[in-house]
Amino acid sequence: MPELPEVETTVRGLRPVLEGERIARVTLHRPDLRRPMPVDLGQRLTGARVTRLGRRAKYGLIDTDRGDTLIFHLGMSGRWRVDPAERLAHDHLVLETEAGRVLALNDPRRFGSVDLMPSDAVAGWAPFAAMGPEPLGPDFDAAHLARTFEGRLAPVKALLLDQRTVAGLGNIYVCEALHMAGIAPARAGGRIARGRLEPLAAAIRAVLESAIEAGGSTLRDYARPDGELGYFSKQWRVYGCEGQACGCGATIRRRTEAGRSTFWCPTCQR
Ligand code: ZN
Repeated sequence: MPELPEVETTVRGLRPVLEGERIARVTLHRPDLRRPMPVDLGQRLTGARVTRLGRRAKYGLIDTDRGDTLIFHLGMSGRWRVDPAERLAHDHLVLETEAGRVLALNDPRRFGSVDLMPSDAVAGWAPFAAMGPEPLGPDFDAAHLARTFEGRLAPVKALLLDQRTVAGLGNIYVCEALHMAGIAPARAGGRIARGRLEPLAAAIRAVLESAIEAGGSTLRDYARPDGELGYFSKQWRVYGCEGQACGCGATIRRRTEAGRSTFWCPTCQR
């Protein structure tokens, strides 16, 4: 499943193909993904110039000079294919630029989504309205974590996965960041000493930045040779490492609750 770093590298991969370019043709090969795509998508995008690409949590944002923003989510299996050699069965949306570049949104399981709305309404869009700050943005820091965690007895892991605390963090990155910060996933958020929150905020930024860097360096210009954007593998500190030795020498453990696994070291995470 694409996480925040994959969405970020996807946006970076799309930027040189789309930014400043005019969209010449829009083709929908089916009307819906997880939910219907806007019926007027082609009408509103055709002839529009892309002014900016960005990201909010795990959503990619494509702004046009008509004051619209296309918002895409990759769901479980979505990816953009750049200048594909052939059309594949699950290329549901295809954009062609005036310069002749082709972008196909491929999503076999169709858990992804495509929405289009006025750019000035994006911040108030329901999925974004209650979301916490971007983990790589200026509003995310130890002070924010201290305010959010104050008095909370829920496990810190659950609090970090709550999108109202911080936007776009998934299970892998929360496990990795808690290990880097030496904090036990089950520790109550409100019972973490204030002095440990700065290293935690720094660890969250570090694991995300390291993944983005790995994605960018292992994928030439963020695209695989076959032009697919969106997925890369990385060596994790604890995630998927159950039974292996932690750097401290102890054995990494795994616990599953509600279908979601937690990986942690019982010795160096307290
Ligand atoms: Zn350890």
